[in-house]
Amino acid sequence: MTFILETQELSYSYGDGTEALKSVSVCLEEGKKVALVGPNGAGKSTLMLMFNGILRPVSGTILFHGQPLRYDAASLRDIRKRVGMVFQNSDDQLFAPTVYQDVAFGPSNLGFSPEKVKRYVTYALAYVGLSGYGRRPPHHLSGGEKKRVAIAGILAMEPEVMILDEPTSNLDPASSEEIMEMLEELNLGGKTVIISTHDVDLAYRWADEVILMKDGGVMQKGPGQEVFGDVTLIREARLKLPIVVDIYQELAARGLISRRTPPRNILELCDILQSHAPGQEFQGTMGKICICNADKIGAEEIKSAIKEQEIRFVGAMGTSAKVMADKSRIPLDFTYGGIDKCILKALIGKSSLIITSGGMVEHASQRIEQYGSESGARIEVEWLPTPVTKEAI
Ligand code: ADP
Repeated sequence: MTFILETQELSYSYGDGTEALKSVSVCLEEGKKVALVGPNGAGKSTLMLMFNGILRPVSGTILFHGQPLRYDAASLRDIRKRVGMVFQNSDDQLFAPTVYQDVAFGPSNLGFSPEKVKRYVTYALAYVGLSGYGRRPPHHLSGGEKKRVAIAGILAMEPEVMILDEPTSNLDPASSEEIMEMLEELNLGGKTVIISTHDVDLAYRWADEVILMKDGGVMQKGPGQEVFGDVTLIREARLKLPIVVDIYQELAARGLISRRTPPRNILELCDILQSHAPGQEFQGTMGKICICNADKIGAEEIKSAIKEQEIRFVGAMGTSAKVMADKSRIPLDFTYGGIDKCILKALIGKSSLIITSGGMVEHASQRIEQYGSESGARIEVEWLPTPVTKEAI
C-alpha cells in the first residue's frame, strides 16, 4: 500500500541541541483524519513542520506518495502547495493588509492568472463562510475568523493534505466546533487532514487515526478507541482520558456495564447503558429527523417546516448551512455533532431538523442509516422540501 505521507526513522534536533524527534516512523493513509496527540514538547509541531518541508530532518526520510521529499526550491514550492500548513497562531500566518490579499498570496505565488486567483479566493472565502470579508484587515477579525482566513489561504492552493497545528487553541467552544466541523467537511470532500492537539475529547471524537507522541517519539498509533482504551499508556503520556471513555471505564469498574470496546461518543455510551436496562426502553413514538439542503431550500420554507412538523431541535452541519441559519435568524440547538444529537432526541420521541450543505448532505443521511442498521432502531428520515428525489439532494 502507498501512503500519502510516511516518515522513516525521522530525527531532528534544533540549533540549541534539543532533540525534538527521535527516529519517528509513521504512515498516514490518504483521505483520513489524523490527530497527533501528546503533551507539550512531545514533538507534534516539529513533525508537522517536516511534512511540508519547512524543517529538514537531520536523519531519516519523509515520503509523499511514496517519493522522498526533495529540498530544492521548485520541489519545496510543489510540496507546500500540495501539503498546506495552518500555524497554531494565526498572527504568524496572516500579514497582508486585507483578507483578500492574504488569501490571494498563495495562489498568486503559484503563478496563477489574476482571474484564476480571484476565482480561487472567492471560492475559498465562501467555503470558510467569509464571503464579503475580502476588504477587511485580518488583524481586526476575531480569533475564529482569523483561523478561517488562514484556512482559506491554504484552501485557495487546492492542497491534497491540510495540516493544522492546534487548530482550536485560544478559540471559544463555538468557534472551535465550527473549525472542527469545517475540517470534517474538507475531509468528506477528499482531503487528508492532520491536526495536532492535546485536547483528548476533540481528538477522540474527530480522528480516524490517533498518533500518540511523547518525548519526540511515537508511543502508539491506531483508532481512538484503541489508543485511548489503554489507560496506563494515556497516564504515561501525561494526558487524561476522553470524558466518554472515563465514564465508561468507571461504569465498567462498578460492574454496571460489561467491558468491551469503549464507546466512541455519547450516543454509543447511552446505547450501552440502555442495553443493560431491559424493559426501560422508551415506549412512545420515536421522533423523526428532517434533513434539508441549505442550497436548495429557502429560509422561510425552513421556518414554516419547523412549525408545521413540530420540530423541537434544529442543528446545522456544514459552513454554508450555518451561515444561512445565522443570516436568516434560525436559532440552532446543535452546531457540532448534529446528527448524533438528533438521533438521541429521536430515541426519546422528539423530532428535529438538520440543515446541511456541501459534503455534509449525503453524510447526514448515511450516518442515520448506518446507526439504524447497527442498532435496529427505525428512525424516520424526511427530506425537506418533500417529496424529494435523489437529484434534488
Ligand atoms: P509539541 O508541538 O508537541 O508541543 P514541539 O515540536 O513544539 O512539541 O517541541 C518538541 C521539542 O523541541 C520541545 O522540547 C521543544 O522545547 C523543542 N523546540 C521546539 N521548537 C524549538 C526551537 N525553535 N528551538 C529549540 N527547541 C525547540
